[in-house]
Amino acid sequence: MKKSKSHEKSGSVIIARQEHGISRKLMSPNSLRILYRLKDNGYIGYLVGGCVRDLLLGREPKDFDVVTNATPNEVKRMFRNCRLIGRRFRLAHLHYQDEIIEVATFRSLASEEPETDPKEAHGAEHRQRPPRMLKDDDGMILRDNVYGTPAEDAQRRDFTVNSLSYNIADFSIIDYTGGLADLNAGIIRTIGVPDVRFQEDPVRMLRAVRFAALLGFTIEENTRTALVGAADIIVRSAPARLYEEMLKILLSGEAAKCYDLLRQTGLFAALFPNFSNWLDAESEGFPHTRFGHMLNYVDDRIQQGYKISPPLLLALLFGEYIDEKAEHFRRQGAPWLQSVDAAVAEFMGETCPIVMIMNRVGIALRNIISQQTRLNKIPGRRPESFIAHHDFNDIIEYCRITRGDKKDVAKQLDWWVAQAQQQTPVSLPCELTNETKAPQRKRKRRRRLKPHGSKGPRPNSSADRDTP
Ligand code: ATP
Ligand code: MG
Repeated sequence: MKKSKSHEKSGSVIIARQEHGISRKLMSPNSLRILYRLKDNGYIGYLVGGCVRDLLLGREPKDFDVVTNATPNEVKRMFRNCRLIGRRFRLAHLHYQDEIIEVATFRSLASEEPETDPKEAHGAEHRQRPPRMLKDDDGMILRDNVYGTPAEDAQRRDFTVNSLSYNIADFSIIDYTGGLADLNAGIIRTIGVPDVRFQEDPVRMLRAVRFAALLGFTIEENTRTALVGAADIIVRSAPARLYEEMLKILLSGEAAKCYDLLRQTGLFAALFPNFSNWLDAESEGFPHTRFGHMLNYVDDRIQQGYKISPPLLLALLFGEYIDEKAEHFRRQGAPWLQSVDAAVAEFMGETCPIVMIMNRVGIALRNIISQQTRLNKIPGRRPESFIAHHDFNDIIEYCRITRGDKKDVAKQLDWWVAQAQQQTPVSLPCELTNETKAPQRKRKRRRRLKPHGSKGPRPNSSADRDTP
């Protein structure tokens, strides 16, 4: 990117179309359609956040987010495929066949001043007042529904590199926070005072770690000091949100790097205190090394474009820990299946108050671990119903990954795979059928930019976040 920039009154820097490398060909066509329609109706329309960051870095964005000065109701009137969502902050979701695009109204920074209507911010008509921002005694944001200006909207984002906007009106990039300089220098820096920003929303600490690892960036010194100081308050975040964020981290393709950062900063010990203690200790004179191996394995698979289900992921990472608990119950006289049940229940009991693993994921995790012994029984009772088991593929995968290098185990797996192929050839994972990989979107460490293709709807929206 060339250096030439223009400075605006708001303190923003504008990078003109010919001076940045972002092409509209690389954007989701639906997001472009939305931006053009907003513009044609007289509204501001920007692409913001991670997609602008990724486009500038030559990475393929995961999703495209739009911000505008149109209110959610105005967006709804403009788009027939619009659904309004969100309790804390009203958002418009525009539904397309293979994509959902989130359209948010500019939000304000201000918690104390009277809230601004997006149109008032740009000198137009009056509108009904939304509820004000609400913080708890520790400064954590509980409700936040105040419309603002584009500059305010950028200021309330988490990191400078996540606050860049692409303006459809003149195809320029607007930088309100110094994000471009940080992007070029490879720095993750909070916008504003890092202690305050982490107090407001502790999940930002996990996001800092994920972006640093994924982009190969360093966490700026003050941001890092604040993060280490605030690591313990991560447990104040909603457990369901921490689970989602941990899944993003563990399935990012850079889980090992993230783990190193989580360890160094104290976040890992805060999130998984019992497991973390166990990991540091030894069992019968042996250190616990499987977790580290599994992180590397998972990273390799994800980088090769494979998917890993959450239960299989948890089994790979926590299986050794759960096995040890199960062995403890077994020594007390419980049968194996009951021992695994009790071990998984204990694991869920200690993990879920902080990181909420959904019940159905916990059940599948238990099945993966407890059904390993079923694989030894060939054919055993009713093999066809075992093959039809919902978690059969994960049970096989877990065995292959953890014990598949042993000759007798490999033979057993071959037998089950052959049986399963006869029974349900289509449902088998391609690897088990020795076929080539199923076509799916590949994620590499540094993905090459390609014109935007189709993708599935996003499961999570920012309306579900505790804060913006
Ligand atoms: P990803 O590649 O994971 O999608 P992203 O930066 O796009 O990264 P999103 O969760 O999609 O992350 O969020 C979109 C944008 O919303 C972010 O870039 C950031 O500007 C803003 N944002 C998200 N979460 C927060 C948060 N907790 N606090 C402040 N701003 C946030
Ligand atoms: Mg995103």
